[in-house]
Amino acid sequence: MKISVLSIGDELLRGSTTNTNLARIGQELGAVAIFPVMEMAVKDTQADILDAMYVLFARSDVIISTGGLGPTSDDVTKSTVAEYFGLKLKENAKIADRIKSFWSARRLGCMPDSVLNQALVPEGAEILENKTGTAPGLIVRKKGSKKKVIMLPGPPHEMYPMLMESVLPYLESISKDRLYTEIIYLAGIGESSVEEKAAPIASSVPGLSIAYCASLESVKLFLSGKNRDVVMGKMDEIRDVLKEFLLSPGVQTIAEEIFFLLGKRKNKLSIAESCTGGMIAAAITDIPGASEVFSGSAVVYSNEWKMKILGVKAKTLEQYGAVSSQCAKEMVEGACRKFDSDAGIAVTGIAGPGGGSKEKPTGLVFIATRYADQTLMEQYNFPGVRDMVRRRAVSSALNQLRRQIISVQD
Ligand code: ATP
Repeated sequence: MKISVLSIGDELLRGSTTNTNLARIGQELGAVAIFPVMEMAVKDTQADILDAMYVLFARSDVIISTGGLGPTSDDVTKSTVAEYFGLKLKENAKIADRIKSFWSARRLGCMPDSVLNQALVPEGAEILENKTGTAPGLIVRKKGSKKKVIMLPGPPHEMYPMLMESVLPYLESISKDRLYTEIIYLAGIGESSVEEKAAPIASSVPGLSIAYCASLESVKLFLSGKNRDVVMGKMDEIRDVLKEFLLSPGVQTIAEEIFFLLGKRKNKLSIAESCTGGMIAAAITDIPGASEVFSGSAVVYSNEWKMKILGVKAKTLEQYGAVSSQCAKEMVEGACRKFDSDAGIAVTGIAGPGGGSKEKPTGLVFIATRYADQTLMEQYNFPGVRDMVRRRAVSSALNQLRRQIISVQD
């Protein structure tokens, strides 16, 4: 089964909306070893959608579209797909009732007639319930044809639950050669080093496919094949050669790993940040339930407040400067004292573009982490612009603490 994705909406081409639906669809299909063959983004006009359907159907049997299912005059996806397949649109009474009650429950006032356009469905279409909005998703095909269009709404909060709850089970049910996929998440190692260790294991059995997806939060490794036992056995071998980088089961990012490792040990974390300006605290507090492990953080830019809040010594700042291993050490120890925590992270560095010197260039970052009464200081020289330096500092700091925690036996 070959699948393509059709993203519909002027705003996607103008760049005023980032095509996050495409990324989510690609990620979730990839997780079940379905890799789309092609994607197009088009304006929401009938002519553009029809053109795209001809192109995509030349390369795939199933098109997943997003957008243009709403009630306004620029929402033409459904009528265009119906026209392509030569199907009539008919009002579906159940959907119409649901839309009316959705509207009245929200006390939105008098409902415009156009809202009921969303209850019009092509003959024979399968309806996908929209639990977070009004426009249902639709699966449309012509009798006797392999071609199908799965239409999903544009708003990501409507598209995503429908994708997970309806579309993935549907695709798995119609796919003849179902592949079994195992995924692991790794941190503190680059994609090419992962490949160097994992690819020979995967290629020792014919028919297995291996794929990687790297981000600053983690490297994701997919292993797919027809035989579940073979995939699981080979993934165990890969886990073994990469065990020092492996995130815990169910964990997908280094921040979640820190939360998991500290939560398991009932430890508390505090943070002191200079050049990352609170980004590490944000990564931790993004996780629901962060209060179980997170005590607090201080964003301390000036020397004065590094001294006043964290107890960094004036002599240290004079002798070594604020961007120094010694300062990072006193920052993390001060944070752990101040917030009475077992684990700590401190970051001080030069994110750029200005502020660098020959001795201390842009990208120079000192990170100190503290765990089990030991402080670990490391120096990093991150390449890239300000944003990249700061983001790399966040993931390196979290990873440094991860390494420190797992080096201490329970
Ligand atoms: P609605 O009922 O809201 O009109 P719809 O299915 O017609 O739903 P659109 O009107 O195309 O969807 O888009 C609605 C919202 O979803 C817009 O804010 C749009 O920017 C956003 N959106 C549409 N497509 C995407 C996409 N591919 N990625 C991210 N956001 C998207």
